[in-house]
Amino acid sequence: MRTGQISVQSENIFPIIKKFLYTDQEIFLRELVSNAVDATKKIQTLSRIGEYSEELGDLKVEISIDEKKKTLTITDYGVGMTEEEVEKYITQLAFSGATEFVEKWKDKDPDQMIGHFGLGFYSAFMVAKEVNIISRSYKKDAEPVKWECDGTTSYSIEKGKRKHRGTDIVLHLTDEDAETYLSKWKIRELLRKYCRFLPIPVEFDGEVINNIDPIWTKKPSDLTQDDYKKFFEELYPMQEAPLFHIHINTDYPFNLTGVLYFPKINQALDNRKDRVQLYSNQVFVTEDVKDVLPEYLVLLQGVVDSPDIPLNVSRSALQSDSNVKKITSHISKKVSDKLTEIFKADREDFQSKWEYLDLIVKYGMLSDEKFAERMKDYCLLETTDNKFHTIQEWVDHCKINQTDKNGDTIILYTTDQNAQHMSIKSVKDAGYEIIKLTGTLDVHFAGFAEGKFEKVRFKCVDSAPVNQLIEKDETIESSLSKEQQETLEKSVKELLNEVAFDIKLESLPPQQEFISIHKNEWERRMEEYAKMGQSMPFGDLGMKKHHLVINSNHPLAAKVLSQDTEAQKSTIQYCLDLAMLEKNLLNGAALERFINKAKELL
Ligand code: ADP
Ligand code: MG
Repeated sequence: MRTGQISVQSENIFPIIKKFLYTDQEIFLRELVSNAVDATKKIQTLSRIGEYSEELGDLKVEISIDEKKKTLTITDYGVGMTEEEVEKYITQLAFSGATEFVEKWKDKDPDQMIGHFGLGFYSAFMVAKEVNIISRSYKKDAEPVKWECDGTTSYSIEKGKRKHRGTDIVLHLTDEDAETYLSKWKIRELLRKYCRFLPIPVEFDGEVINNIDPIWTKKPSDLTQDDYKKFFEELYPMQEAPLFHIHINTDYPFNLTGVLYFPKINQALDNRKDRVQLYSNQVFVTEDVKDVLPEYLVLLQGVVDSPDIPLNVSRSALQSDSNVKKITSHISKKVSDKLTEIFKADREDFQSKWEYLDLIVKYGMLSDEKFAERMKDYCLLETTDNKFHTIQEWVDHCKINQTDKNGDTIILYTTDQNAQHMSIKSVKDAGYEIIKLTGTLDVHFAGFAEGKFEKVRFKCVDSAPVNQLIEKDETIESSLSKEQQETLEKSVKELLNEVAFDIKLESLPPQQEFISIHKNEWERRMEEYAKMGQSMPFGDLGMKKHHLVINSNHPLAAKVLSQDTEAQKSTIQYCLDLAMLEKNLLNGAALERFINKAKELL
């Protein structure tokens, strides 16, 4: 037996590693099993190229628990290691990697450490007080070797007893970790999570837990629709079938495979748990793909596998990594290609799926310039009559009848068909058409589309009196004299609270309401931005005020002027209440007063 000293800077780096990686402690199993898989794949390769001519035998990785000895063992029948190799790959390379890791991260915020990978073999010490390697190399006449290390910087190495080619990694669990990792249930759960699609059978408790050739490793031409369906069910049991899938299969200029599913997403932006899973050579890495996928694609489901995504760097580095950027834009391109393909092949089909595509497409267009450019001609608008048009089609259509005096085409929309029922009715009666912008991002999207399409403006149906929505050159004469107008305005202002209302007298067509309430377009947008947590560019400008328009041409205007003060008060108040009722603003004492008044009139 020989003993040695591991040359590392700090005396004992294990406690540091334990502390830093606590939250990700369980990844040790993934690391050790994937090393075992790597070693097994190496022997397969050596055999294939004729460098190894013995029987390969039953190639698998076994995980076993010994409750008495408090050990967890990972066994493989791979290439194994000679004594020199253990020295080289374990005591020198693996340890120096770990030292470097600690050096780099010891001053960092532990939170940033979550999601760190690449500690490899060394991660065994997160749960073990002692680790043994018992290995026998595939090389002819290689002596078996046994290496022991108790988590300090010294280790021993001696001749071992292993009869067959391969390696056992034996972890003597610490007392605190033994309870967790001696549980069959826990080990099975971890293997299901991290090793589910590893390419070599992984056996635990007499059962193979993995699918060694998941569909993303195959050629799309060898697969049927049913294969994709089955795989989705395997990934997300008991879930509603997805709309369609995208098979990604690229090996140049980077290696990227995967199958993405487009689920039925409606307007709920988050709270979806089953997201895209990220793999590296079939080893599960994370479900937290925020840094790899653009945010709008985080809502997709499925698997992305790439050995080219660096896993051992920090998140911020990941976002600026050029490989990650290329992969991200490749995926985004694949998604828009698929969407345009469906649109072109069968527009009816595309339209029928639109309610589920709407959010992702708009979210994507708002957040990714290139995606926006590619999807601009395929993003749909739905009218209140449930007809679909592309933005360009709708702009061209509205140009004819809905262009204002400045040459701007006005696209009228509703954010809530039920609440805006009355406005919708009068807008339709005026001969205009309306689209539905009822989604979470839609008001933002309106602003965005205005930037993309020249001389196009979006206006909500209740943002102004109907005849002012699409402004024309003609002016409407007031049927009241200047003096009468001033008197009317004065009495209204005296009666109503100017703090709550911004009051304006206007000459509108006589058939339009006497008193109406509006929320102007700009204020609505600001409110939406505030809702999404974005700060308002100009500060809070007392947005709570309602815009109240008095139509001086309405027959009631003349009537009010002829009434005495008491009757005036009563008419104006009643008309205001009606306007408020229409906007769902009437409540509390005001509602009580209104109801009493209505009863009185009966
Ligand atoms: P990595 O896997 O990234 O190379 P690790 O720290 O996980 O880093 O492993 C270090 C090295 O130890 C491996 O590259 C390999 O040469 C060797 N090794 C680890 N586990 C095994 C094993 N089960 N069989 C053969 N060699 C192994
Ligand atoms: Mg490894």
